[in-house]
Amino acid sequence: MRYAVGIIITVLVGRYAIVALNRYLEKQKQAEAMPDVERRKELSYDTALARLAKKVCPGCERPVDLTNTAIDYCPHCGICLFDRCGQCKERKSAFARFCHACGAMAQGGAG
Ligand SMILES: [Zn+2]
Ligand SMILES: [Zn+2]
Repeated sequence: MRYAVGIIITVLVGRYAIVALNRYLEKQKQAEAMPDVERRKELSYDTALARLAKKVCPGCERPVDLTNTAIDYCPHCGICLFDRCGQCKERKSAFARFCHACGAMAQGGAG
């Protein structure tokens, strides 16, 4: 009897884990399908900065070479990582609130 209960609990916990995992993957998939402006809005400024500091994409947390100036978009999920200042056209982090070169507020406003 005790053995049967153990099996039932294992099965239930296993099922719960699978459902939770599926839900997580589904959410991840929906997030990756969103336009990147929406996705950048969803990310908090500090979360984005922390992930950039770890050299991973703020959108999908996969490693990205941020020192390569040819990379403006994450090759894994397509989120915009670098754009140009609307004022002085300097290349800057798409997550920065202000241009580091001229101090103009970034397009899209403060997130
Ligand atoms: Zn990404
Ligand atoms: Zn600027």
